[in-house]
Amino acid sequence: MLARHVTSVTVLLSLSGGGTGAAAGHQYGRPQGQVALTYLANMGVHLASQGATVVIDGLHRGALPDYASLLPDASRALEAAMRPYERIDVMLATHRHLDHFDAMAVGARMRADTHVVFAAPAETIDSLLANVPALRGNTRVIAMRGGDSLQVGAVRVHAVDLPHNATPTRRVENLGYVVTLGGLRILHVGDADPSVTTYASRRLAALQLDAAIVPFWYVWRRRSPVLDAIGASCYIASHVPLRDTMEVLPAQRGSDAVVKVLASRGARFSLTRVGAEPEDRPPGTRSLPTSCQLFRR
Ligand SMILES: [Zn+2]
Ligand SMILES: [Zn+2]
Repeated sequence: MLARHVTSVTVLLSLSGGGTGAAAGHQYGRPQGQVALTYLANMGVHLASQGATVVIDGLHRGALPDYASLLPDASRALEAAMRPYERIDVMLATHRHLDHFDAMAVGARMRADTHVVFAAPAETIDSLLANVPALRGNTRVIAMRGGDSLQVGAVRVHAVDLPHNATPTRRVENLGYVVTLGGLRILHVGDADPSVTTYASRRLAALQLDAAIVPFWYVWRRRSPVLDAIGASCYIASHVPLRDTMEVLPAQRGSDAVVKVLASRGARFSLTRVGAEPEDRPPGTRSLPTSCQLFRR
């Protein structure tokens, strides 16, 4: 199944001088992690593996015309808990800006669904409760702070305090999330400032992240200190303004740091790690997973 799609792999990030990719992974024998990623809009993604599902920054209503809004069918299905999004374990919002979160959209989903948990920074939760007072006291609405962790079924979420880009007004509270599901560890940073100092102090590289979903400006340059500080095996670029999509895409193709630019709403990918756990690797080999690949599905 996967072999059929190898030709459509966009970019792989090589992690060592030799032996990257599937061949090296099979040499070690295990483990393999796999998560299906669906691009919703802007930084919105749906992640699924073995029945566990997470949506990050996926419930918004296109209030900022410069940024991609959800396709109408996807928006309806997410808000009304209909196929293909009838089952979601956790919805996360990195911050309350309207290209990442919409209180009424989240409120609609919470009313339509008795299972899903919504977690976000306290400030975002305040916005939600101000607009949807019926959710006050709902135990499935959770305010998170940097350092907090949450387990819902097979999904683990760890919140990381990552300040928002500088803005003319007071900065909103922005959290990054390290989400573990399907054997993969995936970071979503929201609109975090690409500060090397911040990322280095959060010690994310020690987590050996499989993938990081970042705004496209993080990966603009071929070699970026902030990517080194994040230390993920691959990067998924998002938050591409609609008008720039065609300019951004060709530029990114030349970058060895980018696995895929999220630009086509509804596109689905299989995010796959083939590599060895750190304790299984031969001495002297790189400590990061062997490869992290996106296959178009
Ligand atoms: Zn923002
Ligand atoms: Zn944004």
